Amino acid sequence: MMAGNCQDKNTMQMCKTQKPLKLPRKFSKSCHLHHEQSPLKIVRASYQYMYDDTNSEYLDCVNSVSHIGHCHPAVVEAVSVTMDSVINTCGWEIDYGDLRYPKELHQILPDHLDTFLFCNSGSEAVDLALQLARLYTNGTDAVVIDNAFHGSIGSIHHLSPKVAKSNNITKADWVHIVTMPDLYRGPYQEDDPLAVDRYVADAQDLIDKAQLTGRKIACFIAEPMLTVPGCIIPPSTWLQEMYRMVRETGGLCIADEVQTGLGRVGSHFWSFQAQDVTPDILIMGKPVGNGYPMASVATSRDIAAVLGERIKEYKCTRVMDAVGCAVLEVLQQDQLMDSAAEVGAFLKKELVRLQKKHEYIGDVRGRGLMFGIEIVWSKQSKKPAREIADHIVNRMKEEYVIMANEGNSRNVLMLLPPMCFTQENALLLIQRLDKVFTELPSHRFSRDHATGLPSDSVNTQPAIGVCEGRLGIMQPQLDDDDDSIVSSRDKVELEHAQQSYEDLD
Ligand code: PMP
Repeated sequence: MMAGNCQDKNTMQMCKTQKPLKLPRKFSKSCHLHHEQSPLKIVRASYQYMYDDTNSEYLDCVNSVSHIGHCHPAVVEAVSVTMDSVINTCGWEIDYGDLRYPKELHQILPDHLDTFLFCNSGSEAVDLALQLARLYTNGTDAVVIDNAFHGSIGSIHHLSPKVAKSNNITKADWVHIVTMPDLYRGPYQEDDPLAVDRYVADAQDLIDKAQLTGRKIACFIAEPMLTVPGCIIPPSTWLQEMYRMVRETGGLCIADEVQTGLGRVGSHFWSFQAQDVTPDILIMGKPVGNGYPMASVATSRDIAAVLGERIKEYKCTRVMDAVGCAVLEVLQQDQLMDSAAEVGAFLKKELVRLQKKHEYIGDVRGRGLMFGIEIVWSKQSKKPAREIADHIVNRMKEEYVIMANEGNSRNVLMLLPPMCFTQENALLLIQRLDKVFTELPSHRFSRDHATGLPSDSVNTQPAIGVCEGRLGIMQPQLDDDDDSIVSSRDKVELEHAQQSYEDLD
């Protein structure tokens, strides 16, 4: 049987236990995204753990799409038992009978969000939400938050100022960008008691100006809690005011819950509930399918009606139905939202402790299983320290923990792990983060630009054999005469790229 050619349940089981493919150790560009100097090649994953091509195990702290855990058996089963009912037709309507998933979604949403449209990705769902808002309001324009990300497909990349900026795309005249209410490093900060009012006033100004020039606002689209810009949680009063101002113009409010939904914030199933706002349109992305390519737009019957006959293009398939239900079922059975709240509270307490201990941690934001750790050159200067964030991400990889740095200056360490992330995982993450931060010199140090080597003696070598917990332990091989698999820790010593930084202060 060829690898990956799973034809029935038994062969599928075999596929799962097959030994990893012996791939040549070449790294494509995407492998370099988070670990530029010594990239990782992930070849398989299970729940909150990922495995590289040497079969070393890593704790995954960032892959939010695998919402209930990588390759969760409930989802694998849901897909495999329903794939045989997928029908593609042109000119006939497919009747999948009575579907459960839309009903189950309705039960966990406000009553007015009673109509569910389905597509294959979060970006497509954003595109659909924009179409709905434009058709319903007869408006054209959208209000978005600076640095927001809502997908990158052509029809909507203007809604993602982050994408537009990094690709030098000129802002479209139908997009109005409000300042991100970042109380840590935005123009108005937490020490200003009027900061929120000022952000609101600036947004009102922008909206007024748009209207004065004859623009008609169709919608405001925002993550109720901003993940991609570095886990910025807008003050709830600001978001409530944004909803009020946009509705006053006749526009609709769209909540993008691709990353923040399905219990991630711990206290509520949707982050808009935690912010005390109610959207007209809700966007759900790939986490609803645990990575299976599905997404959904929830809205009212009234708004969805503007699509007319085209509504049929956005039907839930049998596979989506099974997968969506499986994800909701696991979330409920394993009480993953409560777990996110509990583990998140522990993480927050420990991260704040690390923040007090280490000068390079400027801010810790987040809740549930969603955190941003802002890395700065010093607490006082707040100067973004991307180089340190890069270093931490690389060192944590050597400690078998996968993290990523995001945010405008790529200086925010992000934590958005699968929801099965446990307290034990959190403890291990904190211990290793503490270790890696402790290695950093407390004095300023600089890079020798000629050699790329540190000019100070920065001891960033990992202590061999001191990793606690299960991670870093080589996983048992199916074929133990495979000497191509070297100890990851030996590799760490060989590959370790000594770095140092230039304090730009
Ligand atoms: N909105 C947000 C907030 C996202 O983070 C993403 C990407 N994860 C998208 C939309 C687009 O989703 P997709 O990658 O499925 O197109």
